[in-house]
Amino acid sequence: MKLEKSELDEILAHFPEKINQAMVDYVTDVVLLSSRYIFTKRSGSGQQYGYCTHCKKTFKTPNLKHNENTSCLECQSICTVKASGRGRKYLQDRGYFVWYEKSLVNSIAITARGIEVYRDYSGDYKKVQTDFHVTAIYLFEPGKTLMIDRYYWNSSWRKRKSIISESNTSKKNIRCYYSRESIAEAVKGTLFQYSTWEKFDHNELLEFFDLAAKYPCIEYLSKLGLTNLIKDKLVGRKTYSAINWRGKTLDKVLKLPKQEIKAIRDSKISVSYFSLYLYHQSKKDGSNLDLKEAVHLSHLVEPFREDDLKVLQNYTTMRKIYSYIKKQYANKNKKHYYHAPQVIGTWKDYIADCKKLEMDITQESILFPTYLYKAHQDTIKKIKYKEDQELNELIAKRLKVLNSYSFEYKGFFIRPVISTKELIDEGNALSHCVGGYAKQYAKGGTDIFVIRKVSEPDKPFYTVEIRNNVIYQAYGFKNELPTKDVQAFIDAFTKAKLTKRSKGRKVAV
Ligand SMILES: [Zn+2]
Repeated sequence: MKLEKSELDEILAHFPEKINQAMVDYVTDVVLLSSRYIFTKRSGSGQQYGYCTHCKKTFKTPNLKHNENTSCLECQSICTVKASGRGRKYLQDRGYFVWYEKSLVNSIAITARGIEVYRDYSGDYKKVQTDFHVTAIYLFEPGKTLMIDRYYWNSSWRKRKSIISESNTSKKNIRCYYSRESIAEAVKGTLFQYSTWEKFDHNELLEFFDLAAKYPCIEYLSKLGLTNLIKDKLVGRKTYSAINWRGKTLDKVLKLPKQEIKAIRDSKISVSYFSLYLYHQSKKDGSNLDLKEAVHLSHLVEPFREDDLKVLQNYTTMRKIYSYIKKQYANKNKKHYYHAPQVIGTWKDYIADCKKLEMDITQESILFPTYLYKAHQDTIKKIKYKEDQELNELIAKRLKVLNSYSFEYKGFFIRPVISTKELIDEGNALSHCVGGYAKQYAKGGTDIFVIRKVSEPDKPFYTVEIRNNVIYQAYGFKNELPTKDVQAFIDAFTKAKLTKRSKGRKVAV
């Protein structure tokens, strides 16, 4: 968005023009801490002298080697030794930091600047300056936030639609920092003094202050102990519309009666968006779980099973789902589930089978079989799946991507299923219902893989369903759970192929 000059002037009025001493010190001691060098030179007599770029002193040195680290004899800084005779065309250091200050215009607002700093040692190393380039400007006023930025130095400013962190975008290849001390100073006496910012550390807190400026409820959610809700919102997790961010009081914000708020305060139960969603769903179907039950159900189901849950909601209420899963997971058949959310997966598959077999699921005895595992094994036996050429073509297209997940480790390998025939054979050989997944798999709704022994590459062994990079289920013969060595293989596979590597480059000082 283009910015008119008058508007830009209005924004810039909130910011001091100069880079102050505290910022200069922060850059010297934190952002460019490793940008300290001792340049060595030899006199005619062979004595080596060093010049420290930090304290700017010259002194006699023992023989220092090019590129070794040493501490300056004068200022004790850790420095990198550079032989002054060597070329240093590329000796430049760069860093980025976010610095907070009060607004000069609005006494309850705060500001932040994203600043890139740069030192160039390619010329005279005794005259190196630190260049400061403000690349982003943030303004946090009550109910109103703003970011302007420029990608290239000295190009004109533009307004952003929303607050973003440069450390994740244009500066992601530079070491990024932000000063929490500058925040502590900036918030004093402003709207943000009691915002509980101290509890957070995400993307230089820019998105946190964005939320806190727009929604006063951030402060009281945090004080109620629900910082996890704020963290999930900051990292963009699904919020299930469980919260009314503009609510004026906690009961309006959480859409909960006052006694449930009191229960949260007293018991410190950890409420997630998903558990609030389940709570509200049970109000809708009239089965009225209390918050504690909804939280428990959220652990039995887990958010990534939401779609399975929706299938069941067509036939019954939240309370009945809750009781049934609890019972199936707790009873003597527990050995079939090492993780409660598997119950709902089995149940959903079982219901799909019942529908194919035209069984009447409106009957309670069919919808809630006493022994779910066994009832599912029975439906699996009765269903015959057919090959499908159209689906085979779709699967073949998907394999280009899915093959990159193939993996081998300690005598096992995993690869995607290659056709509907293989899926049906796999289901028949292992006596489980994976044959019913052909359409979903072909259309990209889910990913089905087979685990085989390297020594028996053609023999069905274990089948794995993966959704959104999460292992959804992994079953062997008759829905047996993975044995220890298979589980170890699955863990190694998860680590190698499904886990995103974290960046871990951001530092707060
Ligand atoms: Zn020094």
